[in-house]
Amino acid sequence: MRDSFVRSGALVVALAIAGTATAANQEAKKPENPMLTAWAGPYGGVPAFDKIKVEQMQPALEAAMKISLGEIDKVANDPAAPAFENTIAAMERSGRTLDRASNIYGIWSSTMNSAEFQPVEREMAPKLAAFYDEITQNEKLFKRIEAVYNAPDKAKLTPEQQRLAWIYYTNFVRSGAKLDENAKKRMSEINQELAGLFTTFSQNVLADETDHYLVLENEADLAGLSQSLRDGAAGAAKSKNLEGKWVITNTRSSVDPFLTYSTRRDLREKAWRMFVNRGDNGDAHDNNATITKILKLRAERAKLLGYATHAHYTLENTMAKTPERALQLMEGVWPAAIARVREEVADMQKIADSEGTNITIEPWDYKHYAEKVRKAKYDLDQNEVKQYLQLEKLREGMMWVAGELFGFSFTPVTNVPVYHADVRVWEVKNRNTGKLVGLWYFDPYARPGKRSGAWMNAYRNQERFDKDIPTIVSNNANFVKGKPGEALLISWDDAETLFHEFGHALHGLSSNVNYPTVSGTNVFRDYVEFPSQLLEHWLSTPEVLSKFALHYKTGEPIPQALRDRIKKASTFNEGFATTEYLASALVDMKLHLAGDQTIDPDKFERETLEQLHMPKEIVMRHRTPQFLHVFAGDGYSAGYYSYLWSDVLTADAFGAFVEGKGPYDADVAKRLRDNIFAVGNTIDPADGYRKFRGRDAQVDALMKKRGFPTN
Ligand SMILES: [Zn+2]
Repeated sequence: MRDSFVRSGALVVALAIAGTATAANQEAKKPENPMLTAWAGPYGGVPAFDKIKVEQMQPALEAAMKISLGEIDKVANDPAAPAFENTIAAMERSGRTLDRASNIYGIWSSTMNSAEFQPVEREMAPKLAAFYDEITQNEKLFKRIEAVYNAPDKAKLTPEQQRLAWIYYTNFVRSGAKLDENAKKRMSEINQELAGLFTTFSQNVLADETDHYLVLENEADLAGLSQSLRDGAAGAAKSKNLEGKWVITNTRSSVDPFLTYSTRRDLREKAWRMFVNRGDNGDAHDNNATITKILKLRAERAKLLGYATHAHYTLENTMAKTPERALQLMEGVWPAAIARVREEVADMQKIADSEGTNITIEPWDYKHYAEKVRKAKYDLDQNEVKQYLQLEKLREGMMWVAGELFGFSFTPVTNVPVYHADVRVWEVKNRNTGKLVGLWYFDPYARPGKRSGAWMNAYRNQERFDKDIPTIVSNNANFVKGKPGEALLISWDDAETLFHEFGHALHGLSSNVNYPTVSGTNVFRDYVEFPSQLLEHWLSTPEVLSKFALHYKTGEPIPQALRDRIKKASTFNEGFATTEYLASALVDMKLHLAGDQTIDPDKFERETLEQLHMPKEIVMRHRTPQFLHVFAGDGYSAGYYSYLWSDVLTADAFGAFVEGKGPYDADVAKRLRDNIFAVGNTIDPADGYRKFRGRDAQVDALMKKRGFPTN
């Protein structure tokens, strides 16, 4: 289970106001700003990343908002009677200039978030929020959408058009289109204030990830670390002008390996505390007061819209439908997870005791001793596995999988500008017909100003209602760059993440719909992680391992004996993984079910975890003051459960291959493409799943996948 973000045109699609044709004449007046011009060049046009400058962003966004409002005004004031074509389709055509500009702005926000960019973000976030409210609160526009949605002849529209009309209507209502003037005004104030708070929250986390780091002074401080970890730490020190020393930066990709391998318990504790206290240090970057405000505003907004809580409001537009159903799933899995943690800790304690160290397992010991148990119990050494996991070979492997399952071919291209020298681009084609499918941008390495973790982003959605427009997607990760010219070796866990993000990319690339709002990964939040989690399964297929898991020195494929041990250990540490995740998901849901009381986040977190009997050896995967999924935007708020919900589908869906002719069964793959990957949000996902599987998903497969007992 990877808990990365899907950005997919975040700003625009959040309100389902993707849209339209290029306002060519307005653009012609501002040729000097490359953020505003239509994307030119091959592949239906590509972003002119080589021409973008931060100082262009604010003027571009402001001009693009103006253009959009003009276009929308035209739709709202159309003298013709409201019809699908002149209202919904016209909305899909509108806002293209802003789509492009805000996508580039979003790329900078997540991957090039420099000191120069941050003031722009602080300024623009509330303005963009106000802009979207201005659209959803446009009375005339809403009346037209409502008329189309309620039209007696709606049945004459295609099913995709009917669903699109429903999405527009629902999103407008959920954004307050039916409220009275005063309530609308308040909604807009709330949204603007929230946008500012989200920016504050994420900039605070980024500041703590950048400003705090652990300096390793000498050989003794490096005890237990492999040469590649030492090299990475030396590189990090160099970039902080600490040449000759070593630095563990305050991100997961840097701290996790340190916690796993360092034999210096005192330094492990330091690194652990630094990492879990991000946003919670009682200083200028402390997020607690910001969280209290965000929760209060969300509760007030939910009330305004007629919902009991923010969780009820959010869950209405998901597969789960209600917070109760999401909680039921989480609370159903929780006891098995914490029971497994007790077993895992007992195994670790046994090893610690046998070493005569006289310690009790603490959170900063967990990963370190888990690794020892892995070796003792399964004879599996992650460093041994890693020798076979070369980033670039695995990338080739996942592209090969995409060929087998989806019929895609990938060819690297260099005729496309990139925003950073580390970014590479591939063109994707249908290998049977030769037709262009889209572009895939790959930005694999960590750097200052880049958000930690891994995620997929759609720069442009696939569509074809006016003309065929191919999608542009990207995968982003934070691998620590090794020495130039040497193979970058990654962990098994990171290899799964790589496949996961590529699953999101394939979801975008497979899209075969008419309208951009329902395209690609623009699906329910608790469904979007299903295609991505599903693709993780192909990493461990014999085909991928024998062709692409090659030793970085000898080129030999990973031996069968080692594969067997990996398989045997596949549910190892699942107690930890499920518990750290579920603790975060449960706290998220409970924070948003608490209504409009004033919440002290630290206290709420502590008390909720006590009630849950959270094992003291584990901390939440994302503690509240650094929980970007939930407080850097609305997207995953009361929605972190989505990964578990999606994994129920994932585990059950892979069963279709197992019951068939295996992971490369062409018939099952076709059903998967036709009913899941290609359809975007044009159908109800529950229906799509039933068509693929012949029935609803069953939770047993999830329990089995995680090695938990089934009832
Ligand atoms: Zn994901």
